Amino acid sequence: MNPSEAHASLAAIVGSGHVLTDAGAQAPFLTDWRKQYTGSALAVVLPSRTEEVARIVHWCADRRLPIVPQGGNTGLVGGATPDNSGRAVVIATRRLNRVRAVDLTDNSITAEAGVLLVALQEAAHNAGRLFPLSLASEGSCTIGGNLSSNAGGTGVLRYGNARELCLGIEAVTAQGEIIGAGADGRVRGLRKDNTGYDLKNLFIGAEGTLGIITAATMRLYPQPRARITTLAAVPSPRVALQLLTLAQGLLGESLTAFELVSDLALTLVERHFGRRSPFDRRHAHAVLIEISDREDQAHATRALESLMQEAMRQKLIVDAVIAQSLQQSREFWQLREFISEAQAAEGRNIKHDIAVPVSRIADFIESTDARLKSAFPGCVLITFGHLGDGNLHYNVAAPAGVEPHAFDKNKDAVNLIVHDSVAEHGGSISAEHGLGQLKREEIKRYKPAQELAMMRAIKAAIDPLGIMNPGKVL
Ligand SMILES: Cc1cc2nc3c(=O)[nH]c(=O)nc-3n(C[C@H](O)[C@H](O)[C@H](O)COP(=O)(O)OP(=O)(O)OC[C@H]3O[C@@H](n4cnc5c(N)ncnc54)[C@H](O)[C@@H]3O)c2cc1C
Repeated sequence: MNPSEAHASLAAIVGSGHVLTDAGAQAPFLTDWRKQYTGSALAVVLPSRTEEVARIVHWCADRRLPIVPQGGNTGLVGGATPDNSGRAVVIATRRLNRVRAVDLTDNSITAEAGVLLVALQEAAHNAGRLFPLSLASEGSCTIGGNLSSNAGGTGVLRYGNARELCLGIEAVTAQGEIIGAGADGRVRGLRKDNTGYDLKNLFIGAEGTLGIITAATMRLYPQPRARITTLAAVPSPRVALQLLTLAQGLLGESLTAFELVSDLALTLVERHFGRRSPFDRRHAHAVLIEISDREDQAHATRALESLMQEAMRQKLIVDAVIAQSLQQSREFWQLREFISEAQAAEGRNIKHDIAVPVSRIADFIESTDARLKSAFPGCVLITFGHLGDGNLHYNVAAPAGVEPHAFDKNKDAVNLIVHDSVAEHGGSISAEHGLGQLKREEIKRYKPAQELAMMRAIKAAIDPLGIMNPGKVL
């Protein structure tokens, strides 16, 4: 493919200022957030309308050129990074950035794929509603990327992940056709639609391998009138699970977050961000609990206090600090949210984003910790995550005195121990980040062959030319 011909053709669709061809302008689109993957591209194209996306896909399909969709490029599995062939066309969605409609009767918001998650939350807030998806990357990630990776985050316990929040999508297929709109041109955002296979749910979590999501209609919720956050020290993850069971029974839907943080993780946040844990002394494990209340602050406080009293009586917590202000609540959340970046600042570590049934989390932690400590004496385990969803970020760092890069040579052996243990506990090797390039090979060991074969058949039926984000997922 002659690059200058390609650029001229693409410029005719989106305008010359929106086809990036020089290396400097392309660079941010060609490396992933963790800087583990770098590729090259024939062009990076920035369409601003669904019809433009459709025309670009047509153009690529006619020439059998691979397409890599990209939102905020915050994904953690290399899903939005092209390979090194230099043939790929990266379709970056950041100019598809309009909130199309907020409908308070439908209780929904319709936005284009490149709308930042934080902008969607703000649009909902300004309309007096809550859009509850919340991730530490919300200032940079897009709703299209959230749906394509079926993002989770901190509100899943109460509201579900991106898939559960989605009522409808508009998408461009691998043939360049636009699907998902009703006869009136609007995204079909129905709460009930039993008309055969659920195509929307195929595109969600497909990591751009089936087509490009161009817009979506998402559920809205009432805004809570009050929120209260506490950090409670627990004797162990096993006891944390008992506390979760108690909290779910007492609080029901008011329980909106239940996150596990280890002291090691908090130590890293303190070292790299200067944020101190609010406890007077160190505790190996703590949980961050958030209650959202439909009445008022006093009601929320009473609910939390009765949980804490009962938890103390049952010896489920050893210490607790309740946030006294919105500011302090934010500070507690920052302790949790800065963990990933503090770990990155500390040096390389071997990361896992795993899920097991909630009831088996403690068994998983105990047995996997023991296996790793016996195979790699002194290794450091930094475990934290969405305990209420059965989702842990289970990270393994080098023993003291061992250089992180030197320890990295054990990556495959560490992954094998952790992921075999996940499988033994009935879990998934990717809870919320997806497979992308990172886990494409590894999934073959853990996903039943029949299920992988069905996924390949779906891919071949929907993208027969194999041009949609090749080399990812399958
Ligand atoms: C600090 C930090 C914290 C994070 N925390 C969480 C967390 O708590 N929970 C969680 O789930 N994730 C988390 N992530 C991962 C990441 O932010 C999410 O996966 C996010 O949903 C990706 O959105 P994006 O717009 O950046 O997508 P990108 O990274 O651009 O793309 C992700 C995948 O989706 C595809 N894609 C993007 N847009 C489209 C589209 N419109 N149509 C079709 N395919 C598309 C890409 O090809 C790629 O395969 C975190 C990341 C960081 C950096």
